[in-house]
Formats: sequence, structure tokens, C-alpha cells
Amino acid sequence: MLVAKESRTAIGFEEGRNDGAKWFGDLTRSRFAGPVTPHHRVLSREVSPETLAVHAGTYEDPVTGAVGTPVFQTSTFLLDDASYAAFSDGTSRDVPIYTRYGNPSQWSVQEKIAALEGSRSALVTSSGMSATASTIYALTNAGSHIVSAYDVYGGTYNLLREDMPSAGREVTFVDPCDPDAVRAAIRPETQLLFFETLTNPLLKAPSVRGLAEIAKEANALLVVDNTFLTPVNMRPLELGADVVVHSATKYLAGHSDLTAGAVVGRRKFLDRIWAQALRFGGTLEPLSAFLLERGMKTLPLRVRAQNANAAEVARFLAGHERIAAVHHPELGGPRYAGLERADYGGFGGMVSFEVRGGDEAALEFMKKLRIPYVATSLGGVESLVSMPSNTSHSSLTARQRSRIGINPGLVRFSVGIENVRDLVRDLDEALGAPAEEDKR
Ligand SMILES: *Cc1c(COP(=O)(O)O)cnc(C)c1O
Repeated sequence: MLVAKESRTAIGFEEGRNDGAKWFGDLTRSRFAGPVTPHHRVLSREVSPETLAVHAGTYEDPVTGAVGTPVFQTSTFLLDDASYAAFSDGTSRDVPIYTRYGNPSQWSVQEKIAALEGSRSALVTSSGMSATASTIYALTNAGSHIVSAYDVYGGTYNLLREDMPSAGREVTFVDPCDPDAVRAAIRPETQLLFFETLTNPLLKAPSVRGLAEIAKEANALLVVDNTFLTPVNMRPLELGADVVVHSATKYLAGHSDLTAGAVVGRRKFLDRIWAQALRFGGTLEPLSAFLLERGMKTLPLRVRAQNANAAEVARFLAGHERIAAVHHPELGGPRYAGLERADYGGFGGMVSFEVRGGDEAALEFMKKLRIPYVATSLGGVESLVSMPSNTSHSSLTARQRSRIGINPGLVRFSVGIENVRDLVRDLDEALGAPAEEDKR
């Protein structure tokens, strides 16, 4: 056999490393990872990502021998002695009882995501926002303080800005690439640092190691949103992050056909976040869990193709006279001077760039593209383009946008897995094409 199945009882609950914030110090109850059933395929984290993506977490159905995980399309499960024991022992996360608590279809994906991120435990939720909201609420108390970035994903920004103050959490927003500013924002009551490993839409690449160090000094937890990079390009837990969240809607699912979120980290954090998600009701439907698991089997193949395509698209755009600026780490330059290259497998499929002539010119250019769809979202197999100024960042004033570096004419390109020569030809024609040329 290629890979050894670890016995469920052999998986200890990892203690040590960054012991995180003080209020978790007494949460020492020994737990197994998971949850999984004895029929879920649990693989060693030493196995390579391509193999984990295909096999980790698969439910091997003992009745039919089905090769893939069945869709456990049920809201509830028969109660037996194990269920009653789980209720009385407080282990209801580990036993099939009710789908909002857990479902074997979810557990399959959770095990796959945990394996790819190099962790023991994961949680899937109904959306990226439910993953982020549950995580932030679960890991902070009223009276605490959070440090985050001006240019985090819009939904995250709104949550931090609108909901946290009324929930008794104060938030300071800083530039994630300025360690002095991050450090200066720390207060005695800081419990959480929340940053993105590669930011939207300007592809800022903060040092996760540096942020982890600051969090550790502050006895606070570092949570990172790894949506843009995926575990194929970065495994933030290995760089010192405590918890990783994803909008699984994007690269993890990869086909623009479902909405889901994920949280990864040590079980003692995940149990708390699970309990919060349970109360918020952020359950992932079994059918979406099935689609997510299926999509993830090709994650390393897709993401590597997107890494290469995006880098080539970025290089082409950087040399084009109608383009004023291109944001992509592969291009180097002063913004990426401190980049810890060894921490990245690649930089994902996102490129953003400024079309000369401002938003009008950028809109005209997008209309002329034949291959990419003009749509928000990202991370699917198909290329998508959109403008942050009239979508994700439309609620900001022009001045706020320029403060974070979103200049007029900025286009965000989520590069798909199409043939890159076709994409480059399409871009070239759209940038040079006469105005009356029709789309498609
Ligand atoms: C899309 C996105 C989210 C929100 O995810 P949903 O699945 O839409 O709830 C959070 N963070 C990043 C970086 C995203 O791109």
C-alpha cells in the first residue's frame, strides 16, 4: 500500500508549539483529531499533496464498496447508545447525530482540507464568511481587541467594522506589510490578528512568519485567510499561523458552482469554532460537501496551471503600453523586496492591473474580451475579470480606494486553466481592438 492508514486512536492531539492566548491554556482535554468515522480514509500528512487531494478523507463505504464518498443527504441520524453517550460526554461533534452538528459528507472534505493544510482538524461551513465570522467570534471575548488590515476582503472588513464594535471587540486596521504598524497596534487586550496571505485585489504578500512572531510576542492568535494562495502555494500553519480560514467557494471548489467555507487548525480551536458555527447555523449542505470534495481532487493540478498562466499573463501585461501597472509577486520590484520566496509554492491565479485611461477605458477593454467572463468571484477553472471599483470596493470613496492603492482603471483578473496563449492573444486583441468590435 502506498500510504498507511493511521488508527483513529493513534492520532494524538498536538500540544506545544505556540500555546496561543491564555484563555485556551486550560483547555487540555485530550481529544482525537477529526471528526471521522472508522470508514474515512485518514492518511499520513507526509503523503504528497496530489495524493492527499485525491484520497484523503474518502468515505470507503463498507456496504457497497463505492469508490467515491456517498452523498449523505440526510438531516438526521438514528440515535443509539453512542449518540446518547456523545451528548452526555460533550462529544457530539464526533458522532453522526444531526447534520448541523456534523455529517459524514462534511467529514470527508474536512479530512481532505486538514491533510492538505498539514493539520489534524478542519471544519467546513456554508460560506467563507460563515467560516470567518465563526472563527473571529469564537476566538475573541467581549472587551478584547483585534488587529487586521484595511484591505481585507470586503465582507470581512464589514464584519470587523460593523459587527465587532457592537459585540465589544475593538478593531485596529493597519497595512499588513508594515510590521512596525502591526506591532504598534498591539494592546494588552489584543487577542487576535486577522490577515490575508495574499491580498485582494493588489496581491500584497505580507510575511506570515513575521506576523506570527508579533502574535506570539503579544500572546495573541494569528488567523489568516489563505483563499488566494490555497495550501498548494502556502501552508500558513507551518509558518506559525494558529488558524487558517478559506472561502472554499473559490480555488478549493474550483468550478464556480457552490458556496462553502473552511477553517483549519488544532482541534482545541476547531471545537470552539465548530460550536460557534453551530449556533450561527453555518452548516454546509451534504450535496455541496460532495461537490467540494470532488472539486478538490484536482486542486494541485488546477492551482499549478493557474500559477503558471497568471505569471505569464502578468509578464505580458507588464510589457504592454496600454497598461500602467501590474500587481503580481512574480514580477518582483520594490513591493515584493522582502518576499520570503521559499514559503511559496507559487502565487496563484490572480493578477490585477491598471488600464491607462481610467475606469471607462477599463470597462471598454473588459467588454472586448472574448474568453474571460465579466463576473465577480475567482478561483474557478474559467477566467473571470471584474473591476474592484464598481464591485468589491464600491462602498469605499475614491480617496479611500487610492489610499489602499486601488487606482482608476484597476482590473482584477482571475486566470483560469485555459490555454495561456489563447488568453494572451485575447488580452492583446482587446487592448488593441477597434471599439465597435463585438464580444463573442
Ligand atoms: C470570497 C472571499 C471571502 C468570502 O467567501 P464567501 O464564500 O463568498 O462567503 C473571504 N475571503 C476572501 C479572500 C474571498 O475571496
